[in-house]
Amino acid sequence: MASSNSKSTNETARKIFKILLSNPRIKVSWVKAHAGNIGNERAEQLAKDATQHGQPYSHTKLPKPHIKGLLRKRMLEEWQTSWKNGDTGRKIYNIMPSVSLRPTNWIREDVIFFSQHGLFPAYLKRFHLSDSDYCSCGGIGTALHYATECIYTVSWHMRKPAPNFEQEWLKRVANNLVSRQKIRGIIKFISKNRDLFRPPSLQHPSELN
Ligand SMILES: [Zn+2]
Repeated sequence: MASSNSKSTNETARKIFKILLSNPRIKVSWVKAHAGNIGNERAEQLAKDATQHGQPYSHTKLPKPHIKGLLRKRMLEEWQTSWKNGDTGRKIYNIMPSVSLRPTNWIREDVIFFSQHGLFPAYLKRFHLSDSDYCSCGGIGTALHYATECIYTVSWHMRKPAPNFEQEWLKRVANNLVSRQKIRGIIKFISKNRDLFRPPSLQHPSELN
């Protein structure tokens, strides 16, 4: 069908098309396999020979969609390998170990919570954006602190994970829509009330007036 399509961009199909065009005596028809037809037997023999001794088909001769498919597959494999062996974004890796071209249903608040990057005192201290990792309630201001124990976020609390099960807990929370809504509530609340979560030492003297 590709050979009879004058618009086909496949190189082999173009060649056959040209041969057929300049040789009107050649008729193309379907023949029963192993019917004793000399041409058919010859084609069969050449095909077999190609699978055993032939050179791999050059990529430039393969149909475009096929090449696209190969590249996409290889790209995903490379991406997966570097995601698996990388050393950044490990918190997200633990929740989403497989790469995918499908967009996630994560919104900004989900990313902040699960990457634990941004607005948490523990994060600000780690990146030298603040000199204290304390929440103003007196606890250490980690994502887990706000999701399970901080007095300011009681309305969205979830049950605290057992020690050493934080990773499992995060996975479960990420895959549960009700928990995700709570997470979003917490992040929105903290962003809107930043002053409430800053330890007193962070307040600049000019702000105390
Ligand atoms: Zn707190």
